[in-house]
Amino acid sequence: MSPTDETTAPDHEVLVIGAGVSGLYQLHRLRELGIDVHVIERADDLGGTWYQNRYPGCRFDSESYTYGYSFSDEILAEWSWSEHFAGQDETLRYLNFVADKLDLRRDIEFGCTVESLTFDDATSTWTTRLADDRTIRSRFLVTAIGVLSAPTLPHYEGMDSFRGDSFHTFDWPHEPVDLVGKRVAVIGTGATGVQVISAIAEQVGHLTVYQRRPNWCAPLHNRPISEQEMDAIRADYDRIFARCADTPGGFLHGPDPRSFHDLAADERREFWERLYASPGFEKWVGNFREIFMDEDANAEFSEFVADKIRERVHDPAVAEKLIPRDHGFGVQRVPLETRYYEAYNLPHVDLVDIEETPIVEITEQGVRTSDTEREFDVIVYATGFDAVTGAFDRIEITGADGRNLRDVWAAADPDTYLGIFVHGFPNLFMIGGPQGSSSTINFPRSIELTTDWITGLLRHVRDHGIERVEVTVEAQAAWADEVRRWYERMLLRRAKSWFTGYNENIEGRDRMRHVMYNGGLPRYRKRLETAAAEGYPTLAMTRSGSRVDA
Ligand code: NAP
Repeated sequence: MSPTDETTAPDHEVLVIGAGVSGLYQLHRLRELGIDVHVIERADDLGGTWYQNRYPGCRFDSESYTYGYSFSDEILAEWSWSEHFAGQDETLRYLNFVADKLDLRRDIEFGCTVESLTFDDATSTWTTRLADDRTIRSRFLVTAIGVLSAPTLPHYEGMDSFRGDSFHTFDWPHEPVDLVGKRVAVIGTGATGVQVISAIAEQVGHLTVYQRRPNWCAPLHNRPISEQEMDAIRADYDRIFARCADTPGGFLHGPDPRSFHDLAADERREFWERLYASPGFEKWVGNFREIFMDEDANAEFSEFVADKIRERVHDPAVAEKLIPRDHGFGVQRVPLETRYYEAYNLPHVDLVDIEETPIVEITEQGVRTSDTEREFDVIVYATGFDAVTGAFDRIEITGADGRNLRDVWAAADPDTYLGIFVHGFPNLFMIGGPQGSSSTINFPRSIELTTDWITGLLRHVRDHGIERVEVTVEAQAAWADEVRRWYERMLLRRAKSWFTGYNENIEGRDRMRHVMYNGGLPRYRKRLETAAAEGYPTLAMTRSGSRVDA
């Protein structure tokens, strides 16, 4: 680390921002190549999302053994998962185990909040300025800053006046929070809220859930993994990862090969009964393809799940409030749950529909809605994230010709090429950037692919003495069009969720944005492989000021 001096060589060839699942892997890959790489991380320790999210009930919705890294036989052989869907503490232990095994910590600096990233046209280098005013200059930047790492709070009057404890789930305290016997409010019923509510319902004194719009939730069916079962999983890793590579979502579950229309209604129901009883996302991504594209198919399956909610929730009026009316099953992220609906059968759990009786203010004692005030000891905000672009928008990013990334993306969609490049921002590579595959795909399966590809590109760049890499405007436009076309095919385009770029807690985000690639993992991989095999024709590369032909 040194003060910026443009007459000297950069401090590092590659600076990676973020030491979560992506940043750790990128560090390992570049170090293997002997490339000078350094990682900075905002938090005090590694793990990213798994370091940060410590709320009760936080766990995988992906099968644990499909979430771990696939690249190291040694790590696969040595690590044992204790549950089919592991909890946050276990996942964080796993990431620390990987970091220790690969001795990653020596190249990671913690407590580094990035304020700005500025590209210098003259030297083709980036200057990263930290909150403590230090700067780091690097030839290349890799952002591994997460898709869901910028939490957002509502804007209720009086939020600061509450005298009890209140926190966003992302900022759940590191020290234990004792909720036993407490009066607790949870605001928000997305995948996070659903996990918190299920986990704390039994132990709190009283729980009030403030729900704006319900989600379609489905059972996780978690269970422990025995030693014998883990041995069998270990022996099967090649098949497991090959299967994940072959499915659109990077999971063990791929779409059912049959058409919805090929089966009679009772056969469909029988199939769905089996799906509903199966673990993980099978009932979502293992369903008929039509569920995602065909309104009739979606409506029929949604009604099947609505009936399940009616069976599980004793009070019919509460059950009806928990059934979504504004969107069908699976067009928003499906929260997986363990006894979530049963929580509402407990005598000390209340559901408040804030579409009916809106929250008016947070008071010193609790929450006041249009009809009443309730008092609480703890308020939990499970209100989600400024997803996909939020972590970028919180940094002042200035590319070539002084263009500002926030402004470029605010104008319309956050267009990129493959979710990795933005035109006008040379030498900047994003893992998990907008219009990439990581939001829609089992995260590690997607980011291993992207990271391997970026690593291959950086090897090419090093071997050819290239100083500047940038996507062409045409390639970016073609990719962004493809992203938009996928949305047109999918029912998810109609839902107001982070999948479509909405967040009503942020000014200007009450409109649709095409933030994710919905074409699936195999198609995405093919695009990456073709680009590399053809010598990166969509990228402009320069060496000492002259264009290098691919
Ligand atoms: P989310 O899905 O965006 O849900 C936020 C919730 O807060 C929604 O119910 C939303 O209501 C509500 N909300 C937001 N602003 C509000 C306001 N001003 N007043 C009242 N309610 C408000 O966020 P999340 O639950 O944190 O989940 C985000 C993503 O994290 C998930 O989709 C998933 O990808 C990931 N996640 C993964 C796991 C896992 O793998 N196990 C677990 C948790 C989360 P509306 O629906 O009406 O907007």
